[in-house]
This record gives sequence, C-alpha cells and structure tokens, in this order.
Amino acid sequence: MRIIVAGLGLALLAGCGQDEAAPPEPSAEAIEAGLPAPGTATAVTKQANADLAARLDLSQGSDGEDARRDRLAYIEDEAILNTNGDVVWAIPQFEFLDADAPETVNPSLWRQSQLAAHHGLFKVMDGIYQVRGYDLSVMSVIEGDTGWILVDPLTATETAAAALKLVNNTLGERPVTGVLYTHSHADHFGGARGVITDEQVAAGVPVLAPIGFSESAVSENLIAGNQMSRRATLMFGNTLPRSTTAHVGSGLGPGLPNGTVSLLLPTEEIEGRGTVRVIDGVTFEFIDAAGTEAPAEFMFYLPEKRALCTAEVATATFHNVLTPRGAKVRDALKWSRVIDYVLAEYGDKSDVVFASHHWPTWGEENVADFLASQRDIYRYVHDQTLRNANAGATMVEAAEAVEEPDFQGEDFTTRGYYGTLNHNAKAVYQHYFGWWGGVPADYNRLPHEVTASRYVDAMGGADRVLEIGQSAFESGDYRWAAEVFNHLVFADPDNQEGRDWLSATYEQLGFQAESGAWRSYYLTGAAELRRGVPDIGNPNLGNPDFLKAVPSLDLFDALAVRYNPGEMDRDPFVVVFNFPDREETISLLVEKSVLVPRMGATEDAAATVTINRSDLDRLILGEAAPLGLITGGKMKISGKRNAVSAMFDALDQPDFWFNTVTP
Ligand SMILES: [Zn+2]
Repeated sequence: MRIIVAGLGLALLAGCGQDEAAPPEPSAEAIEAGLPAPGTATAVTKQANADLAARLDLSQGSDGEDARRDRLAYIEDEAILNTNGDVVWAIPQFEFLDADAPETVNPSLWRQSQLAAHHGLFKVMDGIYQVRGYDLSVMSVIEGDTGWILVDPLTATETAAAALKLVNNTLGERPVTGVLYTHSHADHFGGARGVITDEQVAAGVPVLAPIGFSESAVSENLIAGNQMSRRATLMFGNTLPRSTTAHVGSGLGPGLPNGTVSLLLPTEEIEGRGTVRVIDGVTFEFIDAAGTEAPAEFMFYLPEKRALCTAEVATATFHNVLTPRGAKVRDALKWSRVIDYVLAEYGDKSDVVFASHHWPTWGEENVADFLASQRDIYRYVHDQTLRNANAGATMVEAAEAVEEPDFQGEDFTTRGYYGTLNHNAKAVYQHYFGWWGGVPADYNRLPHEVTASRYVDAMGGADRVLEIGQSAFESGDYRWAAEVFNHLVFADPDNQEGRDWLSATYEQLGFQAESGAWRSYYLTGAAELRRGVPDIGNPNLGNPDFLKAVPSLDLFDALAVRYNPGEMDRDPFVVVFNFPDREETISLLVEKSVLVPRMGATEDAAATVTINRSDLDRLILGEAAPLGLITGGKMKISGKRNAVSAMFDALDQPDFWFNTVTP
C-alpha cells in the first residue's frame, strides 16, 4: 500500500537540468531541409524582436531607478545552500542579463528580467525594507517598536533565512515580532520556518493571513497537485538552464528556488475592508481581496507611514487570470474593482506602493497612475472579451480580437510578462462560458491522438506534412507550423524529423514570447522533444507540514481522485477509519466506480482501521511501513483485511513526468 498526496502545485526543481549532457543532434534530413541550429534565432524572429524594440521605448527609465533605488546590501556568497550543501539559489545565476538584449529573447521580457534580477536588501522608506532577487517573490520587512514584522517569507526556508540574515547583518539584529502572509500561494508562506519557529508562535508572535488562507493554502493544489506541479515545471522553466537561449526570468520574478517549502499556519485570519491590527506598535489597515489573484488574499495600508502594500493584486506585470500551470479561473472584474477601491481609498494618501513581487513605486502621483493602469488592464481584458463574445466570438476568436490597449505601450507594468492578453481573454471567456466556444463540431471532438494520424493522411502523408510545416516555418508562420508539426508528432512520436521541426518551432515561439511563462513553456517543450522527459524520478511532493494541515475528509477526497474502477472487482463495501488522536471517524464507501468518504461511523463495515492520523501521515510520506505499524501496535485492522488492501490496490500512483509534447 502506497499513498502519496501531491500537494504543492510548485515542484521545486529549479535548474535541475543544468548539468545535463548536450542534447542529441537533430536528424540529418531536418538539417538538410534548413532546420536552424538549436539556440539560434531565425531572421523572422530577429525581425519580430527588433520591431518590438523599435516600437517600445525600452530604456529602463524610472522603472530602472525604482528597481535599483536605495540598495543597502546584497548577499556576497556564491549561493544559498540547504543543510545538505545543495544549491538552493545561485547568487550569480542571472548575471548574464547584464548585457544588451540578445536576438533569442524578446527585448521587452529581457528588460523586465533585468529589472527583476536586481538583488539585495533595499530601503523602501524609513522603517520599511525589502529583500528582492533571491526567490520568485519579495519579502518585505517592517520595523516595529521592538523587532521585524516580515511580510511574505518567500518560497523556501533557505532563501527566507538568508533574507532575514541579510536584514539582521545590515540593519542590526532584532527579533521577529510578526509575520504576515498576504495570500495563499506557496511563494508567500513556504519559507516561514526559515524565519520563525513554532515556539516563537506559541510565545505570542502573531502570524496573520487573510480569511480562508489555511483552507486555500492546502486545498487549492491538493486534489490536482500532480498535473499542476508538472505543468509548473514547464511554466517556470525549472528544468531549463538560465541563459540567453533558455530561462531568463518568469516575468513575476527571477525564478523558483530549489528549497524546502514549509507551512506554518496563521494564528489569525483577517477579513473585511478597513480591519485594523496593531503589530509591535505598527498600525495595519487590511483590505480583503479574496477571489482575485488568489482565493484568499489581503492588501494593507500603513497609515503612520503613508504606504500601501498591494500584495500580488497589483504588481509590475499583467498577471494571470488563469495560470498556465492550472488553477481555478480568477475573476478579472472583481480584480479590477478591488484595485479601483484601493485607488479611491488610498491613492491620495500613499507616498509609496510596494508589493510581494517586483519593485515599489514612489510618489503620490505615480502611485495613483500605477493603480489606475493596473485597474484598467483587468477591466480591459474583461470588458473587451465580453464585448466580442456577446457579438458571437468563440473563445479563440475573442482572444485574437482583444488587441493591445493604448496604455500598454506606455505603462509597462501592464504588459504581459506573466499573464498575456491572449490567455487571459480565454480565461475571461471560460469564466463566463466554460471551455466550449459554441460551435457544434467542437462539442464532442475526437481526441487529438485519434485525429492526428487522420490529419496526416488527409494532408497527403508524413512527408507532405513535413513540407507544409517547413514552408510555414520558412515564412515565419510559427503558430501554423506548430499545429502542422504537432499533428505529425502526435500521429507518430517516433518521427524524428517531425520532432526536430516542432522543437525548432517551439523555440522560435519562445524566443519571441514577451511572457516569461510562455517562453519557459515553449522552451521546455522544445527541450523535452529533443531529450525526452527528464529521467530523474518522481519528485517528493509529500510534505509533513501540508499533510498535517489537510482535513481528513479532504485527504480522502484526494485519494478518491486516484480511484481506478478497473482495479476493483468486489461488490460495494465500507471501510471505517478511526483516528484516535483527532477523535475522528471517517467511513469510506467503496463502490464499483466511486469512493465516497463521509465523516462519521457506518454500520456493517467490512473492516475497521484504527490508526492515529499522525501515523497515517507518516505512512503517506513513506516514513513508516504498514507492516511496521501493525506489528508495532500502531495500526489495527479488524474485519476483512483483504478489503482494506483491495481498496488501496485500486488507487493509481500517477507518474510525475508524464508527456506533454508527445502523446
Ligand atoms: Zn507570488
């Protein structure tokens, strides 16, 4: 019996592909037909990137000044390490960005990546500091009467500890007197145990989070964790090197650290608008923003300092209405309204606005401009998608029709470095209409694995498809080339020329992409076509902190989504689980096609399992074996033991590295 619950939605494997051997050479046929060497931009890509550079004023301007302003110190070591001595964050890994934009990178993304890569401890204003550039996210530090109040302790315990050390070494050693999580995404709370202990919390240090935090932090990624985490490896470029032909930045921040993610639950969840708490002498006024960028989120205002923190609701990028890694779709209209609320309420009383990604914006007028632009971009994608949809557009048509608005050419904080107009318009469409565009032929389509070979036949066979694709590639029509070559690869994944050309096509799309997420997705796709999926075993997605926080019913729901009816040949039966340490009983109805967990006991159980939930967690994490628990008296099974094993044997163990670019 093996139970693994995938939970984080962020597999932290950053840079794990960096030491790999060179990929195999492309086929001689593809090279002869004009395939560009891997890592080179075609003339069309160079032109597209040059055209964008000509259209936008990509000088760093005030953004560059803001991103560098008042740096007090930086980490001078080569790397942030974990306790085993493994590299969690290599300090110089983004130094290659200190150059002009190369032909292989969208120049606007290059500029954004340069800005996000500035690293160190920065002063925001008297009493407010930020550690930036050592993680995907930013840790803000507010000086209280007696110690530091930390806002969003990064993704990993190692980067968070290094950030706090930098603060203490530079500004003087002080205790942590409060921790805030602005929202329920792991890059804002995962490092907590690197900066605070259970003992400190028990001694009264407050840990504040928005209402619904605990539930969202564990549940948002629990049931769908394997797919989300796998897709996150593509979106964040975790398996790519950091280089001008690979990962240059995520658009949201430099990249994910390869460290330990913890979960220390908050002591209080805050709700409402204008809710006030005083922490270590500092007044915080909270503004709930649930259901915008995250299911649980707040922003806050510091009246004594005239400073506004917009968490991840407003940052220096157009964010994701629907993230490519997968999550429930977000509400762009609500998002826009919440930003308008803080603009109206705090826009004229804020000298600075800072967030949990990117750099701050200073000056009352600039703060108001920033908030107005951020409000407008979510409003724009929402309204224009619906304008087109209401006129009859399908999802794809609506996304094509939503063109770059005027203000994106001037205020780069609204550009699509992370989310894009294209996929956010599709997200808005999905929010209102679901996945279907309204055309009957699309309602019950055959799977691509079935149609791919039929398309190839209909187009005249594999050689003809190669010709069609190559001619699309030569003309720079990469979106069409990708579709053509993708038919070939899905019809015959062993067609090496097809793989070579699809890989080259993804690479050009990546080289042109302004979104860091799109670039990483395309370039990881290209790499997986060349090398195959990484052969490094399933990452360990189990995590004791997270598991402990998962309610028992949710844990069994996560097991139920792995139930394989084909593996069950018994008549329906019930297994009852008793967890004495939690004084909980849960009944699991095992039917032919579904598992149905329900809190409470059931009569006529085929078997009853008595085990502490903490021991079940250890079992799930692989820290204990069933036999050992039974012989040690920690797990008792009464009734039909084989019913229990039949139930567990019917649970699938999904592979992490499933194919995405091949069938
Ligand atoms: Zn974040």
